[in-house]
Amino acid sequence: MILFISDLHLSPRSPGATALFLDFLAGRARQTDELYILGDLFEAWIGDDDISEPYNASIVAALRAASDSGLRISLLHGNRDFLLGAGFAAAAGLRLIDDPTLVSTAEWQFVLAHGDALCLDDTAYMAFRAQVRDPQWQAALLAKPLAERRAIAANMREVSETSQRAKTNPYTDLQPAATEDFLRAHGYATFIHGHTHQPATHDHIVDGIHVERWVLADWHEDRGECLVWDGEALRRETILPAA
Ligand code: MN
Repeated sequence: MILFISDLHLSPRSPGATALFLDFLAGRARQTDELYILGDLFEAWIGDDDISEPYNASIVAALRAASDSGLRISLLHGNRDFLLGAGFAAAAGLRLIDDPTLVSTAEWQFVLAHGDALCLDDTAYMAFRAQVRDPQWQAALLAKPLAERRAIAANMREVSETSQRAKTNPYTDLQPAATEDFLRAHGYATFIHGHTHQPATHDHIVDGIHVERWVLADWHEDRGECLVWDGEALRRETILPAA
């Protein structure tokens, strides 16, 4: 059984979602073999040298405990936590995977991505994405002291929140033509992604072939969601606080 989650946006400002995730890691997730985290696990990540900050340390320890119990955890970057690196992965006991990644099981094929790379109509965001994914830009940022990076992250969050408030729909959707090309390039595998916070299951017909696209839900203070592959079908499962 495989579980897929994304867009938890964990931070000390979201204690509810944090508790849901810690319970999920200690319970539900351990009934399965494999967990894929498809980006934006954290609301912000300013470098692996911030791993001992108490909040970050608590999440890393919980991931590590789940991993030590036998759960295989894989993570790809979102647009918030693009600085998660090898130090974090080693401490948390998970592996960083490419965006996109093709996953083949005995029964089915999936292609996994965060989803932001296909939101081509948001040109301002695409420019931002190109910048923050640039290794030189990342190296220059990571060379700055932690306190300065913390201030930069807070400022980025403010800019992003202001620009999102200004839009009717803060999340530009995936561009249809680019999505079709993507599905074709990945062998018409079932596409699972997050990022848009618009959970839905879409049916695409590409070259006469029916391809499903499952958009994961973002997590809230009182509710999360995971997608479950049981070897035969995908289904959504709601994650609620322990009674
Ligand atoms: Mn995102």
